[in-house]
Amino acid sequence: MTKQDQQQKPPQDHMSKSRAAAAEDPNKDNDDWKSKPPYRTTEKNEHFDKIWTAHCSCERVKYWLSREKPLASKYCHCRDCQSLHGAPFQWAAVFHKEDLHFEKGAEGLAFYNTADKQTHHKLPCKVSCAYCHTPIMDEGRKMVLMFPGIIKVEDPEHKKYFDPQCHIFYKQRIVDISDGKPKWTGLDEDSDLMEDVEAENIESVVGRDKVDS
Ligand SMILES: [Zn+2]
Ligand SMILES: [Zn+2]
Repeated sequence: MTKQDQQQKPPQDHMSKSRAAAAEDPNKDNDDWKSKPPYRTTEKNEHFDKIWTAHCSCERVKYWLSREKPLASKYCHCRDCQSLHGAPFQWAAVFHKEDLHFEKGAEGLAFYNTADKQTHHKLPCKVSCAYCHTPIMDEGRKMVLMFPGIIKVEDPEHKKYFDPQCHIFYKQRIVDISDGKPKWTGLDEDSDLMEDVEAENIESVVGRDKVDS
């Protein structure tokens, strides 16, 4: 959980009576989440500012963001991100669930819960395109961490909005990045800060186990 997550007020509750009844029964497997942000589809009179647009590789999944600037942006170097993204680290931009809107709701999306190792929508979970498997986001309980690589941002000034403020789980890193940004051993604001490596001493450690965790 990020600091932003903790600071957020719970989203407004618009549960109908029937949905509230369903929520009271823990054994009832309901699809209530599909009617809430970010999966609910637009109602006729609803206005949603489409500031940014993005789609997966096969273009079956398309979404819009109504917030110009993410609440935060970070690089995550944790082992889960390394394996699930097939990359040395992951780049995520934090938004409210209400800032995000999928063209077809939950249709065409695949979910994966890393704790259970199950492909179901249990938060927090990884969300990807069910067809081409492009990673879309990490969905938390209140926030979403979008993977901005697919967001169409042309203007260099606007690209700066998505520039990460820090590195998290840097202790598990594959590669040193000497960018002067804060580097947390675990979660930001909730772990220790690590020293930046001098530029001339940077090394990539693919194939060797440098991690001392
Ligand atoms: Zn796709
Ligand atoms: Zn991670």
